[in-house]
Amino acid sequence: MSQPGFFPQDIIIKKRDGGTLTREEIEFFARGVADGRFADYQATALLMAIFWRGMTPQETAWLTDAMMRSGDVIDLRDLPGAKVDKHSTGGVGDKVSLILAPLAAACGVKVPMMSGRGLGHTGGTLDKLEAIPGFRVQLDVPEFRAILQQVGLAMIGQTPQVVPADRKLYSLRDVTGTVECIPLICASIMSKKLAEGIDSLVLDVKFGRGAFMKRKEDALTLARAMVAVGRAAGKPVWAQLTAMNQPLGRCAGHTTEVIESIECLKGRGPADLMEVTYALTGHMLVLGGAAGDAADARARMEAAIADGRALEKFRAMCVAQGGEPRVVDDYSLLPTAKKKVELRAGADAHGYVAGVDALKCGHAIMALGGGRAAVTDKVDHAVGLSDLIKIGEPVQPGTLLCTVHANDDTKAAAAEKLLRAGIEFTPTRPELEPLVQELVQ
Ligand code: URA
Repeated sequence: MSQPGFFPQDIIIKKRDGGTLTREEIEFFARGVADGRFADYQATALLMAIFWRGMTPQETAWLTDAMMRSGDVIDLRDLPGAKVDKHSTGGVGDKVSLILAPLAAACGVKVPMMSGRGLGHTGGTLDKLEAIPGFRVQLDVPEFRAILQQVGLAMIGQTPQVVPADRKLYSLRDVTGTVECIPLICASIMSKKLAEGIDSLVLDVKFGRGAFMKRKEDALTLARAMVAVGRAAGKPVWAQLTAMNQPLGRCAGHTTEVIESIECLKGRGPADLMEVTYALTGHMLVLGGAAGDAADARARMEAAIADGRALEKFRAMCVAQGGEPRVVDDYSLLPTAKKKVELRAGADAHGYVAGVDALKCGHAIMALGGGRAAVTDKVDHAVGLSDLIKIGEPVQPGTLLCTVHANDDTKAAAAEKLLRAGIEFTPTRPELEPLVQELVQ
C-alpha cells in the first residue's frame, strides 16, 4: 500500500541510484515503517541502499525528525530547571550513567534518562540498575515525570510508544548487515534522545577495540553528524570522544559495576572512570547553566561527592523507583556469585600490562552468563569481573590480573581462557593513550 504520490519502490530506486530523498519521501518511509505500509522487505532494501549511498546532513536531520515523530514525544517544558541527558555509544565497564545522573542532579540539573539494555559484548544501564533488588525501570510517562520533579533524576527504559520506527528499523538492521551506517546510527540515537523532552544533550562517543566504532575517524564523523542533527532540532548537543580500548574502571558486569559506581559516589572511584565521569557531567552542568565553565563544574562536582549529596541522590532514586536503598551501605544485598576465582599472572610474566582487550572482557562476561546474545535473553546479574588490572601497571609472577565472579565452574573456565588471551604484557612501560579526547560542539 502507498499514499498518493508515493510508492516504496520508487523511494528505494531513487536512493539505490544515488539520489537525494525529499522530506516527504523520508516521512513516508518513517511513518510507513511504524504503521506497516512499508513492508519489511522494502524497508530493508532502502536501509541497504542508504548503507551504500549514504545520506546528506539534511536527509539525516529529516530522518531523525520523522523517526522521533513516529511515536510519543515527551513534553517536559512545564518542569522547572534545565533537562539534560547523556548518552554513550556503549562500551565495556561503562557504568558512567549510574554515577553521572545522581551527580548532575545533585549539582542542579534535571536528568531524564532513558537507557537501553546490553546487547552483545557491551553492558546496558537498565540491566545494571536491575541488579538492585526491586528497582523498576519500566515506568510510565506520568511516573517518570513525577520522579524527575521530586528527585531531579529518573532512569528508565523506553516506553513502547517512544520512537516505534526505530524499534522496527533497529531489529531489521540487526539482521541485515546495516547497523554500521553513520546516518542510520545518528538518526536511531538522536530520534530517541530528542523524544525524551530534553533541553540539551551530552554524547559520549567511544572508539577503540571495545567500542562499536573501532576507528577514531569514524567516531568523529558520527559525533559531528549527531551534533549537527541536534543543532537542526534547536537543541545544543556536545559530543565527547573517549577511548575504549580497555574496560572503564576495574569492574565489569552488573552487581560489580553497581558496587564500583557507589564507590565512586563515596569518593573512592578509580581514576580513569572518574576522569570520564567528571568530563561528561561537567559538560552537562555547563550546558544546563548550573556551572559557568569546566573548572567551576569540577569544583561543584567534587563538593557534591565530598559532602555526600551525590550519594544521597542515588539513594533517593532507588527509593523512588522501588529499589532497595540499603544496597548503598550493604553490598551483600546485591545478587552475589557463588565463586570468586582470582586470575594471577603466570611464572613468565614480567614488565607491564600492554593491553586489556575490552572486547574479550565483554565476551568473558557473556561466557559467564552475564551478557545477552538476543534481546529476549535473561542475564545473570551476579557474575562479572572485578579488580581488573589496567594498561601500564607493573606485573610479575603472581600479580592479580582480575577476579572472576562466577556461578558455574565450566563457565568460569571459559571466561578465564578469554581473559588470559586478552591481557598482554610488555617488558617496557607502554605509552598511555589519553582517555578523554576531542569535544565536538
Ligand atoms: N545505538 C542505537 O540506539 N542505535 C544504533 O543504531 C546504534 C547504537
